[in-house]
Amino acid sequence: MSTFVEPGSTATALLLLGRGTDPDSEKGVDCPGALPPASDPNLVERAWAAKKALGDRLFILGHHYQRDEVIQFADVTGDSFKLAQQAAARPEAEYIVFCGVHFMAESADILTGPDQQVILPDMAAGCSMADMAAAQQVEDCWDALVDAGIADSVVPMTYMNSSADIKAFVGRRDGVVCTSSNAERALRWAYERGEKVLFLPDQHLGRNTVVRELGFDLDDCVVYNPHKPNGGLTTEQLRQARIILWRGHCSVHGRFTLDSVNDVRERVPDVNVLVHPECTHEVVAAADRVGSTEYIITAIEEAEPGSAWAIGTELNLVRRLANQHPDKRIMFLDKAVCYCSTMNRIDLPHLVWALEELVAGRVPNRIVVDEDTTVNARHALDRMLALP
Ligand code: SF4
Repeated sequence: MSTFVEPGSTATALLLLGRGTDPDSEKGVDCPGALPPASDPNLVERAWAAKKALGDRLFILGHHYQRDEVIQFADVTGDSFKLAQQAAARPEAEYIVFCGVHFMAESADILTGPDQQVILPDMAAGCSMADMAAAQQVEDCWDALVDAGIADSVVPMTYMNSSADIKAFVGRRDGVVCTSSNAERALRWAYERGEKVLFLPDQHLGRNTVVRELGFDLDDCVVYNPHKPNGGLTTEQLRQARIILWRGHCSVHGRFTLDSVNDVRERVPDVNVLVHPECTHEVVAAADRVGSTEYIITAIEEAEPGSAWAIGTELNLVRRLANQHPDKRIMFLDKAVCYCSTMNRIDLPHLVWALEELVAGRVPNRIVVDEDTTVNARHALDRMLALP
């Protein structure tokens, strides 16, 4: 069929993510130690050798947005929901090397046993969305809800893409974590327990889910801006709202526009537009199908040979799908490159370095969540894992 067409370089450099202003939220620090050069022709061989030497003591998790050079070493690949489940299901693995971003490794540490050590090959692999909700900002927001007299009727919910501190905040207040795979179920769970939801930190996933799946009007949603007094909202607006959306977004999925959708429909009249729910509401409303990364993968696997698909999600995944399904016409929704720059920080040199350190008996870049945060975040994560 057709060959995947690489999008052009973007004139606007993506932000270096994971360097938020709250040092206790998403940590972005340089990776210590001597990394092998990317030009080393033996990197693949070295990674396999280290993996073999570690045997069953090692379990490598790989997020779908990771580079191919890294994903080939993953024991399991998945979205953040599947990887959280997998981390919890391998109590015998001593080392869990997480090829993903910081908040995912934190969740793995929370869900695994005390004898298991979670390693992030590059500590600068953060997430700009997670950085958009700092612990103190969320506490201030809750105070605003208390002042408005509505806190008792609000169930807090956070997307998996948030720091352990935010998950712990939600857990302390009997809330739940969700992912893009189960946001609808988690929201239904929440509305059985309260009249309103505070949805952190991705406004688009929250808005898209309540409008598309729960039948809300856009007017039922308000956006809380942590950089404005009282979130930029009046007490009346807070009282009227059915969902209070945090003003956060994904820097990658936020790049797709209605113009991208209109443009591809003009160029490829029979195209199916398939996007992630972290895209803006206007993009989601204009798409043919919407779903999590696992949903996107399944949709392409089940698609008719010869069918055309423009996919609005991270480029590593779209390119991999195109390579895996040469009988389908798969294209990237945007004309410009759209990688998650922090996901991309986990490259083969960092993976080789981390694995060889483990073989040498040293544990590099261990992600440790403190006990109080773990206990409270775990409440919220366990509620998610128990959702029907
Ligand atoms: S794709 Fe978006 S939400 Fe996911 S890690 Fe990257 S910045 Fe964060």
